[in-house]
Amino acid sequence: MPNQLGPEYVRAIAPYQAGKPISEVAREFGLDEAKIVKLASNENPLGIPESARRAMETAVAEIGRYPDANGFDLKEAISKRYNVPQEWITLGNGSNDILELAAHAFVQPGQSVVFSQYSFIVYALATQAVGGRGIAVPAQKYGHDLAAMRRAITSDTKLVYIANPNNPTGTFIPPNEIEAFLQAVPKNVVVVIDEAYNEYLNPELQYESTDWVRQFPNLLVSRTFSKAYGLAGLRVGFGLAQPPITDLLNRIRQPFNVNSLAQAAAIAALNDSAFLQKSAKLNADGYRQLVQAFDELGLEYVQSFGNFVLVKVGNDDGAGARVNLALLKKGIIVRPVGGYGLPQWLRISIGLPEENAAFIAALKDVLA
Ligand SMILES: *Cc1c(COP(=O)(O)O)cnc(C)c1O
Repeated sequence: MPNQLGPEYVRAIAPYQAGKPISEVAREFGLDEAKIVKLASNENPLGIPESARRAMETAVAEIGRYPDANGFDLKEAISKRYNVPQEWITLGNGSNDILELAAHAFVQPGQSVVFSQYSFIVYALATQAVGGRGIAVPAQKYGHDLAAMRRAITSDTKLVYIANPNNPTGTFIPPNEIEAFLQAVPKNVVVVIDEAYNEYLNPELQYESTDWVRQFPNLLVSRTFSKAYGLAGLRVGFGLAQPPITDLLNRIRQPFNVNSLAQAAAIAALNDSAFLQKSAKLNADGYRQLVQAFDELGLEYVQSFGNFVLVKVGNDDGAGARVNLALLKKGIIVRPVGGYGLPQWLRISIGLPEENAAFIAALKDVLA
C-alpha cells in the first residue's frame, strides 16, 4: 500500500460525532438561530457561572503570556476542595484529555482495554488511537456489568474504563460494587473511573472516590468542568491518582494543555457551590418534566443519574434517525445514538423548563 499514510489502526478510526452546532442546523434547515433549542451535548443550560465570567475577564489582561504550565492555583483549589495532595492532580484539556492520556501512558499496540457496551465512545476511540484492542463487554440493563468486565480482563489488559454515571445511558453503579471490582482487578491494570456527571448525583448517592485513590495505586478518577460547572467551551478537567500514575500523565501531556482563561474560570466555578446547587435542582426538575412526558406518551426510557435521558422513540432501527430528523426540522437538536448501537433511541440533554417543553411539544407532533 505505497500511498497509505499512517498505521491501519489510525485509518480505521471513525471520527467522533459531536452534537450539531446551532449555527449549522439554522443553515441546513433555514431556521432562525434564536428559535433553535439544543439538547444534544449535555451542556449546562444555565451556561457559564457569573463567578467564572468575572474571573475570566480579569485573566484576559494576562493573555499575552503563556498559562501556568503546572496550573498551581487551580491544583491548589482542587487540592483544598477534595482534600487531596497536589501531587495527585493532572489537569486536562477537558477530561477527554485525561482519558486519552491514560491510553497513551498505559497501552501499547496490540494490548487490550476493557469497557462496557453503551459506554462513552471516547474509550473506544482513545484505545484505537494507540493501536490497542478494545473489549466492549455486553451491558446489563444498559449499564456496566462489572462482574463480566472483571472476567473480560486478560493477561494483556492494561486499562479499564468505567463511567459513573454512564453516558449515553445515564446508569449508576453503586459504590460497593465499584469497590469490589477494584479489589478484584489485577494490580497491574489501571482502572479509570470517569465521573463527568458526579455533581448531578443526589447527596444520598454521593461517594468519596478519593478514598479509593488513597487505597488503590492503580486507580485514576477523572472529573470535568464541562457539565455541571457550565464551562464546556473552555475545555478543562482533571485526573486524581497517586503519584506514580500522575507522574506519567504529566510527562506526556502538552506543557500548556489548559489555557489561562480556563484555569481562572475553573477556580471560580469550583468554589461556586450556589451555582452547582442551582444546576442540580434545575436538572432534577427538568428530569421529572421529561420522564413525565415520556410516561404519558408510553415511551420507554432508562432511569438517568446524569443531565440527560435516553428514550426509545420507536421499535425499528430507523426510528432514532427518523425522529431526530423530524425534530431538527422543528429546530430541536437532540442526540441520535445509532453510533452507540442504540438506533431506536435518542439521548435528550435536560434543558431549561421552556426548552424541555419545546422539545416535548415537538416530540408529540412528530410521534402523532
Ligand atoms: C461529557 C463527558 C466527558 C467530559 O468531556 P470533557 O472533555 O471534560 O468536556 C467525559 N466523560 C463522559 C462520560 C462524558 O459524558
